[in-house]
Amino acid sequence: SESDDRLSAFLESGIHRFDEANAFFIDPVRVLNRCYTRFRVSPSAYYSRFFPSLNFSTENQNNVTKNSGKRKRREKEKKNSQALNLREQMADRRHQEVRVALLKAHEALIGASQLLETLRNLRDDGEERGGSSIVRENELDFVELGSVWQAPFYEIVLKVDEDEAAVENAGGESYCQKVVPLFENHVANEGRNDIEADLLDRKYILPKNSCFYMSDLRQIHNLIPAESDCGFNLILIDPPWENSSAHQKLKYRTLPNRYFLSLPVKQLTHTAGALVALWVTNREKLRNFVENELFPKWGVKYATTFYWLKVKADGSLISELDLFHHRPYECLLLGFSHGKEMNSEQLLRLNHIPDNQVFISVPGDYSRKPPIGEFLLDYVPGFKPARCIELFSREMIAGWTSWGNEPLHFQDSKYFLST
Ligand code: SAM
Repeated sequence: SESDDRLSAFLESGIHRFDEANAFFIDPVRVLNRCYTRFRVSPSAYYSRFFPSLNFSTENQNNVTKNSGKRKRREKEKKNSQALNLREQMADRRHQEVRVALLKAHEALIGASQLLETLRNLRDDGEERGGSSIVRENELDFVELGSVWQAPFYEIVLKVDEDEAAVENAGGESYCQKVVPLFENHVANEGRNDIEADLLDRKYILPKNSCFYMSDLRQIHNLIPAESDCGFNLILIDPPWENSSAHQKLKYRTLPNRYFLSLPVKQLTHTAGALVALWVTNREKLRNFVENELFPKWGVKYATTFYWLKVKADGSLISELDLFHHRPYECLLLGFSHGKEMNSEQLLRLNHIPDNQVFISVPGDYSRKPPIGEFLLDYVPGFKPARCIELFSREMIAGWTSWGNEPLHFQDSKYFLST
């Protein structure tokens, strides 16, 4: 039947389009796995939260419910004690504008019974590895490593395919080692297959046709191409915005907004222009900053917003839709940065982006965004294949350059299964 076909298409691609809503359900594990031939992203390592499990982050689950109980009480108290202030009214208006689109998307998911059934099993990877060991296993702290005086001497060993044609015959056995500096260096896997890389005593997996540059923000100017026709057509940015979450403070350091004003978005833009996609939190103050200061400073003309709606394994929203300080969705603001060839108005007209597209997924690790880069490719100016860069990245994607102070984070082999 048609719905069987759609289900098997989803199981292949990790993407399900809902016809009745302007929305998609995505399984990031399946989407990411299209970057790999030799390794597979481990579903149980990806879905470290929001799946009920005996041995996997039960602590986490408890925390979520405990906090949200407290939160709800606090919100109720607040509602009773005062009316919404002006900024809260603005935020509420924004929320009301997208609410219907989000509800429609969620209804579509709840109505897709076959898809919902597979959702429960997204975390199964056949070889259950007891999640807690994944979480507690030592990973390298790249921020720490990059800050010591020895940082310039750290090297990463890439196991590059010697001769790709020969490898296919030999069953992936023959490779040569390429030793290159780890920090402040463009490290690329230009091959057609994912490769392994050794660093200190750990193993990393680099997807095919991918590149990273690991440095602090202070060295970001090294990404600026000498010629603007070597610039980028798609610039995805997920900044370490300041917020009050104590949990976040344990995960990575944040930066005050003024640091982002100096990101060289203009200088990274290709002659043909670039689509700029910026993840923002739901704080109204931040939205105002982006609209009134950041985009104008970068020379980015706002186009529209996409939404990431977060659900649990049973398809329910991770929090109530109307909860003021804990929305179950995040926003991706889209705009155009003009190159030499066209102004932003022309770019806007030529690359029309539909409003209010919704992407639904079960969240992975804290602050990890779903891989929706390919959905953006349709609206990117310039020739194909588009040149793509992700700023403040924690992972590598085929066809992309990843920059940040820990772009290898999710490439640790503990997040993978070997096939
Ligand atoms: N998009 C990522 C994902 O899906 O996993 C999450 C990015 S997270 C919001 C922000 C990242 O910025 C963190 O990896 C953090 O370490 C990094 N970061 C913080 N301060 C930085 C700095 N001064 N220079 C470079 N990167 C920095």
